[in-house]
Amino acid sequence: PGKQSVDVLIIGAGPAGCVAAAYLLEQGITVKILEKSQFPRFSIGESLLPQTMEILQQTNLLQPVIEAGFQYKNGAIFRWQDEQVEFDFREKFSPGWGITYQVQRDKFDSILASQVESKGAEVIYQATVKHIDYIDGGVRVAWYDGDGNVHSETTQFILDASGFGRVLPKLLKIEEPSSLPFRQSLFTHVIDQIPLTRFDRNKIIITVHPLDTQTWMWLIPFADGSSSLGAVATPEFYQQFAGLSPDQMLERICHADSYLSNLLKGARNKYSVRQIGGYSSSVQSYYGDRYALLGNAGEFLDPVFSSGVTIAFKSAQLACDVLTRQFSGEPACWQQQFVEPLLGGIDTFRAFVDAWYAGTLLPILCYPNKDPDVTAMISSVLAGYAWDTRNPVVQDARKFLRLISGLCQ
Ligand code: FAD
Repeated sequence: PGKQSVDVLIIGAGPAGCVAAAYLLEQGITVKILEKSQFPRFSIGESLLPQTMEILQQTNLLQPVIEAGFQYKNGAIFRWQDEQVEFDFREKFSPGWGITYQVQRDKFDSILASQVESKGAEVIYQATVKHIDYIDGGVRVAWYDGDGNVHSETTQFILDASGFGRVLPKLLKIEEPSSLPFRQSLFTHVIDQIPLTRFDRNKIIITVHPLDTQTWMWLIPFADGSSSLGAVATPEFYQQFAGLSPDQMLERICHADSYLSNLLKGARNKYSVRQIGGYSSSVQSYYGDRYALLGNAGEFLDPVFSSGVTIAFKSAQLACDVLTRQFSGEPACWQQQFVEPLLGGIDTFRAFVDAWYAGTLLPILCYPNKDPDVTAMISSVLAGYAWDTRNPVVQDARKFLRLISGLCQ
């Protein structure tokens, strides 16, 4: 690549930005990351899927993650009233990792960022990207430091990994509403005090609200005796709690389910409940003149299957592959080699999310006499292998779910 100050400029040092930096550095491409916040910083999105382990391994980021001692994770539990089903991700159709971690993101993201710094990426913190201009043979990016001073950087190519900041979709006016409706989440961390005999800390637990199947709660145990606790619901559902504080609302919602209430009876919030809403989003195009969008800066579906970090990693892997070819003068097609494969996996998750809220997925998940091969195929998708086109579920997820739904009545 040309004579700009850096080959590739990455906006955001979250999972997508750091994994992209690691891929490019391995190819000898120079990288600078501009990150708005000062790390460590809080982020939601704590339950990883096993597919992420493969990408951490490919980018030589896995060892420090293993050494950090995060909570081991081998599956997911789904509950609705007295029904419960457990998926063990080690029993799945696709080859590859069947385990992963549940991570406090302040620590996890800091590990990835310091690893890519040590591999040669310059990471500038408290650097907020505000503007871009196309210049001869490159792009100029204007950013503000923590004191409000303006700086600029020139680059061959921008990877926007700014998450919900969605810097380029906003600047280039290519945001598009999601196909999913507005939902809102309340969450906190709790010192959970759950006796080890009563709960498998190696699994995320997703509980459907007993009175409203559109509302669900997550419990994600960490290694230090705390857990992430949250709820997702529509604004209409929250209206019944008008006048209550977010702490009171989350407590009411979680304690409506007797199993969860029992688990949480000794729990104490580590901080006041936070909220995020309207997070589902999409874009008109995932790439354009000298840019591509990674992770949440492109599309975010819904948290129910913990697919966010997996999609962020996969988008970085695919985009860096195309970019490396482009920089080395080989044929590179962003539509065929980045967008189409990426959307293949996202659409598999989208089919699962749509079926979840349509109420057709839970009966399939909970159906007791499922063929073990079908269970393994579903388990693969839940473990993040949504790009394994050998899996009949991935080949046409909607059709597969429709067929299985008929058999699970
Ligand atoms: P981020 O992790 O958001 O990183 C983006 C970075 O860009 C941030 O550090 C930000 O400071 C920086 N930035 C923003 N604007 C600018 C700017 N102007 N200039 C410079 N830097 C900027 N995913 C899972 O995998 N598992 C889960 O269990 C899970 N649970 C979730 C629960 C909820 C309620 C929600 C809403 C999401 C959940 N997710 C989960 C999704 C997950 O949070 C995201 O998909 C994931 O963090 C995306 O990574 P990213 O790298 O794209 O963006």
